[in-house]
Amino acid sequence: MSDWTKTDWRSLPRVQMPDYPDAEHLGTVERRLSSYPPLVFAGEARRLKGHLAKAGRGEAFLLQGGDCAESFAEFSADGIRDTFKVMLQMAMVLTFGAKVPVVKVGRMAGQFAKPRSSAMENRDGLDLPSYKGDIINGFPFEEGARIPDPERMLQAYLQSAATLNLLRAFSTGGFADLRKVHAWTLGFTASPEAEKYRAMASRISDTLDFMDAAGIGEEARHAMESVELYTSHEALLLEYEEALCRLDSTSGKWLAGSGHMIWIGDRTRQPDGAHVEFARGVQNPIGMKCGPSMTASDLKALIAKLNPRNEEGRLTLIARFGAGSVADHLPRLIKAVQEEGAHVTWVCDPMHGNTIKSSTGYKTRPFDSVMREVEEFFAVHRAEETVPGGVHFEMTGRDVTECTGGVRAVTDEDLSDRYHTACDPRLNASQSLELAFLVAEELQQ
Ligand code: PEP
Ligand code: MN
Repeated sequence: MSDWTKTDWRSLPRVQMPDYPDAEHLGTVERRLSSYPPLVFAGEARRLKGHLAKAGRGEAFLLQGGDCAESFAEFSADGIRDTFKVMLQMAMVLTFGAKVPVVKVGRMAGQFAKPRSSAMENRDGLDLPSYKGDIINGFPFEEGARIPDPERMLQAYLQSAATLNLLRAFSTGGFADLRKVHAWTLGFTASPEAEKYRAMASRISDTLDFMDAAGIGEEARHAMESVELYTSHEALLLEYEEALCRLDSTSGKWLAGSGHMIWIGDRTRQPDGAHVEFARGVQNPIGMKCGPSMTASDLKALIAKLNPRNEEGRLTLIARFGAGSVADHLPRLIKAVQEEGAHVTWVCDPMHGNTIKSSTGYKTRPFDSVMREVEEFFAVHRAEETVPGGVHFEMTGRDVTECTGGVRAVTDEDLSDRYHTACDPRLNASQSLELAFLVAEELQQ
């Protein structure tokens, strides 16, 4: 894009970004990051774009999920493995139900910067800047921790690189081999969805044994030994994004080297703002959150900016309206897309419109509302005869108690047991799998 440079966003209005107190320190970190290798390769981002194009046409289905915010303190190989494992299980359930390939994208290896509904947090009469994610400031409610520190960008980069390295190893090093479909269930506790999963895993194993016995191709077997897992995050902290932005020598186009897919949040999608300006110039697939305040004319302006050549797979619209509200908002946005003749991939985020405060004071999400928003999303697409292209969840492989409900019902009182999220409440492994079965059923209708 010849009319774009990676620093243009700097002259535009920005929201949700930190003001670093020490400009010199910030500059030193930016220069260091700029000299580091990018985390992803342009060819991978283009390949993902091809998969998302298919999802937009109903020939594939996107499963995007992971932490609301990755954290330095929760960083561990086991945590990454467990989330990866649940994504594989969910993908299996969805593939089995939908009979289309499932495109797996983690909110992982870079999901560190958070927009907040309020810039300040008040506790017991003390006002401090809100926690904005480990890449920006610290979680403890202490004055020193909440000052933005550019050094954190280097740690986030290193953690992202290590996470991606492990994910790549898990994806191709044998862990994701479809023949291990039963092994992924180890550690399941008894529950109806675990039983359903085991039954499905047995059918898959039998099919694979049959294929072996019938001498069905070496090539097919090879394809089942590995998976592709892509990374994504909200491109909120533009100093970090700019420092990892690279010119791809193959295509001559710019690449956000921080992850395969980046998205623009519901709070930072101003058509003339800094975040849209940055995203429009990179070739990665771009996601955009669409909340209740998005108007048809906003959406048209954003489509024109972000995807002027109407490339399939470039733009994923992530609807997040809240249970009971999907029918009030999605149809008018679908109409706007149709009026423009735009190619988009519609995805449902049933998390961010369903956050409430529990009776015990925790920020939570009732599992029923999450399920209901998914159902409403599919119902609108059926009525409009458009394509539901995927789902976007905040989830973890760990047995946390952050969202209420599910078959192994988490109550308001249980929330304090294992509430570990650094930001929004996540579905635990069992709730994630339950949801995957629901989505699979919707896809079969
Ligand atoms: C998020 O995905 O964590 C988030 C903040 O979403 P949204 O921009 O949709 O509120
Ligand atoms: Mn969130």
